[in-house]
Amino acid sequence: MKDRKVLVVGGGGRCHAIVDALSRSPRVAKIYCAPGNAGIGAQAENVPLKDTDVKGLLDFALKEGIDLTVVGPEASLAAGIADAFRAAGLKIFGHTKAATRLESSKEFAKEIMVKYGIPTSAYRSFDDFGEALAFVNSRPFPAVLKYDGLAAGKGVVIAADAQEAEAALRSMLLDETFGAGRVVVEDYLTGPEFSFMAFVDGDRVYPMPLAQDHKRAFDGDKGPNTGGMGAYTGLPFITAADREFALKNILEATAKAMCTEGCPLSGVLYGGLMKTPDGIKVIEFNARFGDPETEVVLPLLQSDIYDIFEAVASGRPTSMPVWRDAVTLGVVLASKGYPGSYPKGAEILGTEEVDAKVYHMGTKLEAGHLLTAGGRVMMVVAEGADIREAREKVYAELGKISCDALFYRHDIAHVALEGRILDGKALSDSIKEGLKDKVAALEAEYGRKPSLAVIMVGDNPASQVYVRNKVRSATYIGMDSRLIKMPEETSEQALLETIAGMNADPTLDGILVQLPLPRHIDESKVIDAIAKEKDVDGFHVLNVGELWIGRHCIVPCTPKGILRLIDESGIDLCGKTAVVVGRSNIVGKPVAKLLLDRNATVIIAHSRTADLKSVTLQADVLVVAVGREKVVTGDMVKPGAVVIDVGMNRNAEGKLCGDVDFIAARQRASWITPVPGGVGPMTIAMLMENTLECFLDSMKR
Ligand code: NDP
Repeated sequence: MKDRKVLVVGGGGRCHAIVDALSRSPRVAKIYCAPGNAGIGAQAENVPLKDTDVKGLLDFALKEGIDLTVVGPEASLAAGIADAFRAAGLKIFGHTKAATRLESSKEFAKEIMVKYGIPTSAYRSFDDFGEALAFVNSRPFPAVLKYDGLAAGKGVVIAADAQEAEAALRSMLLDETFGAGRVVVEDYLTGPEFSFMAFVDGDRVYPMPLAQDHKRAFDGDKGPNTGGMGAYTGLPFITAADREFALKNILEATAKAMCTEGCPLSGVLYGGLMKTPDGIKVIEFNARFGDPETEVVLPLLQSDIYDIFEAVASGRPTSMPVWRDAVTLGVVLASKGYPGSYPKGAEILGTEEVDAKVYHMGTKLEAGHLLTAGGRVMMVVAEGADIREAREKVYAELGKISCDALFYRHDIAHVALEGRILDGKALSDSIKEGLKDKVAALEAEYGRKPSLAVIMVGDNPASQVYVRNKVRSATYIGMDSRLIKMPEETSEQALLETIAGMNADPTLDGILVQLPLPRHIDESKVIDAIAKEKDVDGFHVLNVGELWIGRHCIVPCTPKGILRLIDESGIDLCGKTAVVVGRSNIVGKPVAKLLLDRNATVIIAHSRTADLKSVTLQADVLVVAVGREKVVTGDMVKPGAVVIDVGMNRNAEGKLCGDVDFIAARQRASWITPVPGGVGPMTIAMLMENTLECFLDSMKR
């Protein structure tokens, strides 16, 4: 029956989302919110009482005959609202003051985690400035320093060095900024952070969907920390096994631990977690709904939230909540200047046009006008089948709101949408490790090591780096290698004679001439002078020819490495469209042939291809080998494509750059190579492979 009266304590976006969820309940007749805000006022009756005015709130609840009170902010819980309501015989969803210590005392939380084996970083706590400083300086930086007390999310400092650590400890322990307290010093962990919330009643844990928020004020995770600029659900980097681990070993383990400690939970447990290389660990606990995570999580709830709140508040079991199989994404509109000082009172227009949820955070209504009244002003939340859809919808809807005094981030969920890195450096290192063992085995079998000669003519600085890397790699895997440096003025004839001598040397398996050659030497003549079976670069006209007719040959290193990187992404090339931008004989064309061999449909583009974007947008696999910075911009990449940037050029500032706008393209690609660190190292690993192949062929002859 729709006859229940509910009081929600709080007034931000989180409470608006709670009120919104309650308003969908078939049992709730009336919702009050203290103090509420302009947006909440449309769905509930705002009550002008402060969220920490425990006595005032209790009197109100008794007078109005409230059936259930739901607490949003931590300050109300820390003020003992749940204890006072329960003592008066009222039902309240929110932890006791003793249980709220999980959030209000970092040290208490750490003690619980250590005592019950809940995974978290190692820590020590101090109240003495000198001892804390000595401890921090005795360990590697960065150091994580947490003020032990409620600091509204501002009490954590990650100190990069001794100077920063000293300043932070001084303000936390000596100055009056925070008030008397303790400092917890922790190990610095790395990995993506995410929030895992659950409704908890003693040892009964009802998990909610995972969410990730964005703390920094500006795009690209730049700028100062804020209360949160946006959030989303449907985190692709957390597997089902990760979630299961966190549920069992963190949320359920903590709920049990709190029962054993005699302060059972009765409200929301919020795990601020991190997926570190050593597994999932707790960064912090909160004892209430997270903000802005609640705004993206609760819209997915299909079950009646009143039932859940009421069951937890009464200590009675209920069924697992049901969540819609969709994802949500929300973007916060904040006052320009936030998190610093900002003006208030600017008019916001267009919110009624928005076809998505609009949760108010800091707004007020004055004479029918909606005005800004806080740092974070409102959050627009849209739902979609996937993150891309939700994101497109949210930004389209946001465009309907106009207010010059507001700003927002344009890249919410970027981590989830960014392509993964095809790490050519790591792959080539592992290939070289394998070759090292092979070389040792070949030497034992044939009584001789494979050998490579690298010829460099002149002193082109880029070439010097490349030849050094090639010789170093050959030495590393245990091959014989020699570097033959010839002066710039070397004649074509002298170079050809040197090569002829090497062709005749039976102890030499591979010959490589570093390109480019000085102008007076004909490159193609030189390449074709290398014995076809010693042409480890695979550039000889006969090797290229045999590649095209599909006969066994030495496959050019860069194209071979590109295919290996594409395979690393896991894509099945058969039937896919591959676009190769660049048609040189040493990169573009052989790549195209290798892709054709895998039954991909291949399109080759080049400098005179009209409307390159319409071509590249068809590419499931895009290979760009052009030699011009940012020939491929982000909007030229088909969403989900595998992008291989072969380019290795120096731009006007002398910086090594690729052909693709990496940052923008990564937002659309599923996989992408970095420059440097992608194709370059793979070319060298393939050179080593080719040399071994030449050696084996010669041994068989
Ligand atoms: P080439 O100069 O021989 O070929 C470049 C190709 O790009 C040509 O087909 C050219 O078109 C095309 N092109 C040039 N400008 C544009 C443009 N604005 N739009 C579309 N297409 C364009 O170079 P390479 O094939 O030898 O090398 C390509 C790149 O790959 C270079 O940056 C090189 O440094 C790098 N590279 C990297 C290696 C590595 O190990 N990482 C190894 C080898 C190369 P057209 O045919 O019409 O002239």
